[in-house]
Amino acid sequence: MKRYDAIIIGTGQAGPSLAASLAKAGMQVAIVERGKFGGTCVNNGCTPTKTLVASAYAARLAQRALDYGVEITGTAKINMTRVKARKDALVESTSTGLEKWLRSLANVTVYTGHARFRDSHSVSVGSESLTGARVFINVGGRPSVPNLPGVERIPYLTNESMMDIDYLPERLIVVGGSYVGLEFGQMYQRFGSHVSIIEMNSRLVSREDPDVSDTIREILEAEGIEIRLNAKCIAFEPGQHEIRASVECDDGPPEVRGTHVLLAVGRVPNTDDLGLREAEVEIDARGYIKVDETLKSSVDNIYALGDCNGRGAFTHTAYNDYEIVADNLLRGANRKVSDRIPIYGLFIDPPLGRLGMSETEARQTGRKVLLARMPMTDVARAREKGETLGFMKILADADSKRILGAAVLGVGGDEAIHSLVDAMYGQLDYTVVQHGVRIHPTLSELIPTALGKLQPLS
Ligand SMILES: Cc1cc2nc3c(=O)[nH]c(=O)nc-3n(C[C@H](O)[C@H](O)[C@H](O)COP(=O)(O)OP(=O)(O)OC[C@H]3O[C@@H](n4cnc5c(N)ncnc54)[C@H](O)[C@@H]3O)c2cc1C
Repeated sequence: MKRYDAIIIGTGQAGPSLAASLAKAGMQVAIVERGKFGGTCVNNGCTPTKTLVASAYAARLAQRALDYGVEITGTAKINMTRVKARKDALVESTSTGLEKWLRSLANVTVYTGHARFRDSHSVSVGSESLTGARVFINVGGRPSVPNLPGVERIPYLTNESMMDIDYLPERLIVVGGSYVGLEFGQMYQRFGSHVSIIEMNSRLVSREDPDVSDTIREILEAEGIEIRLNAKCIAFEPGQHEIRASVECDDGPPEVRGTHVLLAVGRVPNTDDLGLREAEVEIDARGYIKVDETLKSSVDNIYALGDCNGRGAFTHTAYNDYEIVADNLLRGANRKVSDRIPIYGLFIDPPLGRLGMSETEARQTGRKVLLARMPMTDVARAREKGETLGFMKILADADSKRILGAAVLGVGGDEAIHSLVDAMYGQLDYTVVQHGVRIHPTLSELIPTALGKLQPLS
């Protein structure tokens, strides 16, 4: 039995930084990884998908080259082997770099293999037994495979197996019209596949406001993506050369045909084979580890960070979990997960930057809300770039003048949103942002202009 001050399970977006911080404070730390170092974001999530999105953007620019006065003699062709090689190189160097760094840290011992609790203080990894005064769970999640009729009879893809693709699926059916499905759908359409997106809800990304969903749908349809909404009863039928997905949509033919199917219908936490019962750690009905505001589980010495606690589903929320735990344990801070303001991106092109409340949520609060909306065609930089799709909208509280939330769907929207989050953390009156001078020509310079248009919600 090897004894540690801390055992960390998983090397996702919280574990490695936590290991380094605890070790620097003089603790003996064990960190365990059963797969590739860096977890989902590095290997199957943010890093590879944004690398592929960049290739797809280059393909799109090549298709639109003449709009910019650039004549390409011959045809621009996608080389999927090179697209994948570019992605693999970045993923590989990030993952191996992380592993090397972890192994180089004083006071940190790296274990490879599947970790399972034996009790609240001990964990087995293969034939090794480790005990720890504290245990930090950072096990993330995996793609969920829905129990749809026929799914077991087709060779479906997930966001993980998509990473091995070095060819172009001729007709790709994407099941799920939310964040992951839309990013893959648009990139493969741009690479040259014919993409159909099937969504059970009546609109895409149904967590967003209807005007955001509708504009995203228009953007994707304009690129030739077939979108089937209200697909209530999705079922699959394998054929000799194709897969048929029956969709029972309100409009259009009752089935969609494709050569490949990508399931992008959400994720499940990796908590089912972790021995949580032996450790007496409580989970909720969906398998997420129950935590308090400081990310402590139902057991005093066990914490859960990142996607597995159900309090966030992003790299930045997992990393913020690390910051909360490290600051509280090492510096006696009193940081809480509820101090965090929701912020995230949807990395289609143009991207969506989202912050705080949506319009729907703001309406539900019953407070007096101000709303400003501005199309990207009003943004000089967007016109200059020839990328005028989308709009921005900002919500503020009429009484306190605080910013409540925003959606910036447009070129640079994923960056521009940050000036508003700073104002929210600083609890600034929106007029402070409105009166600040910004660089011309940028998308951000239109944020003060938009704030000048705030009107009571109708
Ligand atoms: C396609 C896709 C695109 C995404 N894009 C973005 C994006 O652009 N921006 C963003 O913010 N987020 C994005 N996300 C979400 C982001 O990847 C996750 O929120 C983030 O990786 C969560 O990190 P984590 O630390 O909770 O867990 P993970 O990164 O999943 O890491 C968990 C680690 O634990 C290991 N592990 C699990 N169980 C055990 C065990 N029993 N023993 C030992 N090791 C174990 C796993 O092998 C893994 O390495 C994306 C996700 C997907 C799927």
